[in-house]
Amino acid sequence: AALANGTPPHPNGSATLDSSNERIQIVDEQKEFTAQLTPQLKKWGLHDVGFGYNIISVFGSQSTGKSTLLNRLFGTTFDVMDETKRQQTTKGIWMCRGKGTNVMVMDVEGTDGRERGEDQDFERKSALFSLASSEILIVNLWEHQVGLYQGANMGLLKTVFEVNLGLFGKQTSADGTSGRTLLLFVIRDHIGVTPLANLEATLTADLNRIWEGLSKPTELKDKKLSDYFDLAFTALPHKILAADKFEFEVQQLRKRFVDKSSPEYLFKPVYHKRIPADGVAFYMEGIWEQVQTNKDLDLPTQQELLAQFRCDEISAAALAEFNEQAKSQKRPVEAGKVIEGLGSMMRNWRKDALVRYDRDASRYHKGVYGRKRADLIGAIESTLSPLYLGQVKNLHKSCLVTFKKEMQDGLKGEEYNFADVVLKARQTCETTFANGAQEATIEDTDWSWEDEMTLLQEEIGVVADQCRKDETKKMINQIERNLKKTISEPVELYLNKPSKGMWDEILKAFREVLEKAETVYLAKAKSFNCTEEENVTSLSSLRKRAWLALRAKVDEQTSEQAFLTKLRNHFEEQFRYDENGVPRVWKPADDIDGAFKKAKDLTLELVPLYSRISPEDESLQFSLPSESSDLLNEGEEFDFPSTLVIFSETKALDLTNKFRKDADAYYVEAKRSTVSSVAQ
Ligand code: GDP
Ligand code: MG
Repeated sequence: AALANGTPPHPNGSATLDSSNERIQIVDEQKEFTAQLTPQLKKWGLHDVGFGYNIISVFGSQSTGKSTLLNRLFGTTFDVMDETKRQQTTKGIWMCRGKGTNVMVMDVEGTDGRERGEDQDFERKSALFSLASSEILIVNLWEHQVGLYQGANMGLLKTVFEVNLGLFGKQTSADGTSGRTLLLFVIRDHIGVTPLANLEATLTADLNRIWEGLSKPTELKDKKLSDYFDLAFTALPHKILAADKFEFEVQQLRKRFVDKSSPEYLFKPVYHKRIPADGVAFYMEGIWEQVQTNKDLDLPTQQELLAQFRCDEISAAALAEFNEQAKSQKRPVEAGKVIEGLGSMMRNWRKDALVRYDRDASRYHKGVYGRKRADLIGAIESTLSPLYLGQVKNLHKSCLVTFKKEMQDGLKGEEYNFADVVLKARQTCETTFANGAQEATIEDTDWSWEDEMTLLQEEIGVVADQCRKDETKKMINQIERNLKKTISEPVELYLNKPSKGMWDEILKAFREVLEKAETVYLAKAKSFNCTEEENVTSLSSLRKRAWLALRAKVDEQTSEQAFLTKLRNHFEEQFRYDENGVPRVWKPADDIDGAFKKAKDLTLELVPLYSRISPEDESLQFSLPSESSDLLNEGEEFDFPSTLVIFSETKALDLTNKFRKDADAYYVEAKRSTVSSVAQ
C-alpha cells in the first residue's frame, strides 16, 4: 500500500466538478479510438489554446514505474499497479491534463509486448501514434537495464527509430514542423555508483549502434540519429529506499517541463508538431485509423485531411453565425425597405466571419486554409448579393418617389423656374441614390450599381418630361385665359360699330394679342427646356385656341338676338333719326317710303359684312393650317376656312327675313304716326 502512496484520488471516485484531473482512455483494449477526446479537451480548457500546449508520452517496460512518474511529475491520475495484488493495469493509451499546465500527458500501457510474450503489434502502433503527435518521448528504464543492448528496451527503441524514419524521414520543413522529437531517458532506481555521465555514454553508444543497424532507404542512408532526435538523460533515486531524494529530484525534473524561463526547459518549440489544439482529436484519430489499417502513415496527407476537416468545421461555424446576422435584414429588404447602413452591417458581418475563420483556421495547412477561405467568401457573397441587389432596387424606387415629390413641391406657387426645379430634384435624387448604393457596395466584389443608375436616370427623364408637358399645358391654358380677356373688348367694340374696316380692326387687335401671347409662351418655354418640336406643337395649339377664342367672342356678339338688335339699332338710326341725330317727326308730306327703303337697304348691307370674317386689306387675313392639332384635344377635326364663316347663306336669308318683319313694323308705326298727327 505504501507504494501507491501519493497517487492522486481517482476522479471517478470523487464527486468534484473539477474536470482537471479527469483521465480519458483514448485507445481502448479493442484498439478503438474514443469519440470523447474533443469534449474532454474542451472540459480541460485546452480546445481553444491553438498551439499553446504540449504533448508528452512515455515508453518503457511494464511496471517500471512509468505511471507513477507521470503522476508525480504532472499531478496526473494514471492507474498505478497495485503492489499487493500485482494486477496489470488496463492496456491502451490514456491521457491526462498536466495539473496547472497545458500539457497533454499520454500514458501508453502495455507497450512492451516482449516482456509479456505478446505480439509486438501494439508496441509498434503506439510508437507510431506517439511519435506523430508528441514533442517528448520519455524512455523509462531501470538503471540495471542500461547496457543490456539485447534487452527489451533496445528492441523498443529500434521500433521507435524505424517508425520515425517512415514518418519524418523524407519530411521537409514545408509544413512548418521539423519532425524533431526529444528522447528523454529517465533512469530509475539510480544508486549513484555509476555516474549519470557514464550511463549516458553507454546509452548513446547503444542508440547509435541501433541506428547504424537499421535498414534505411538509400536516400536516407547518410542520415544520423541526431538529424531526427535530441537526446536528454536524467536519473532518479530509488523511490522507496531514498524516498526524499526521489521526491526532490522529481520536483527538479518537473521544473524542466513547466518553467519556460529555465535554460533546461524541455519543450522546445522545434519539437512541436504544429497541430492546433482544436484539431488534435481529429488528427490523432486519423493517425490511429491509418496505423490500425496498416496503411502508410503519410503525415503531410494527414495534416491536409485534418486541415480540410477543421477548416470546413470552422468555416461552417463562422457561416452559421453570419447567416443568422444576414437573415435579420432579409425580410425588410424583400418588403422593399431601404435599410440605413446596410453596407456597413454587411461589411461587419463579413469581417466578423472572416476574423473568426482566420483566428481558428489559419493555424492549419496554408493551402487548405486559403482554399476554404475563398469558398467561405464565395458563400458569404452569395448570401449578401441578393440583399445588395434588393437594397439598390429599393433605393431606386424610393429615390424616384422622392424625385416626384420634389417636383410637386417645387412646382407649387407661381415663382419658380421649371428647369431649375427639375435640375435640383434630379441632383438630389441622383446623389441620394449614388450615396446609398455606394454605401451598400462592398469592396473586393464585382458588385456594381451603374446599370441601376442608368435605369433610374431614364425614369427620371420620363417623369420630368411628363411634368414638363403638364406644366406646358397649364401655361398654355393660362395664356389662353388672358388672351380671351384681352380680345373680348376690341371685338365687342368693333362689332358694335359696323363699318367696312371692322374686320381689319378686329384682326389687327387679334394679331397683337396673339403675338404677345406667343412671346410670353416662348419666354416660359425656354425655362422649361422645351424642345423645338414641342414649341412648334404648343405654338400651333396656342394659335388655334386663340382663333377659337376670337370666334367664340364673335359668335357671342353675333348670336341671333344680338345681331337682330344690331340690325334694328342700325335701321332705327337711319330711319328714325335725321342726319343730325335728331328724331324725326313724320309729316304727311315726308317721303316715308323713300326713307324706309334707304334705311332698310343700308341695314341689309350689314348682313354680308357680318356673315364672313373678311378684312378689306387682304394682307390682314388670318389663316391656320387646317390639320393643326391641339395639344389638349388631339384628333379633333378642325377646318379653318369654315371658321371664317359667321352666317351661312340660309342663316343670312333667315336673319334678313326676320329683320324685314321688324323693319315693316317700324314702317307701319311711322305711317300711323302721320295719320294720328293729321287727326289731331
Ligand atoms: P508502470 O507499469 O510502468 O506504469 O509502473 P507503475 O507506475 O504502475 O508501478 C509499478 C510498480 O512499481 C508499482 O508497485 C510502484 O509502486 C512501483 N514503483 C513506482 N516507482 C518506483 C520506483 O521509482 N522504484 C521502484 N523500485 N518501484 C517503483
Ligand atoms: Mg502504468
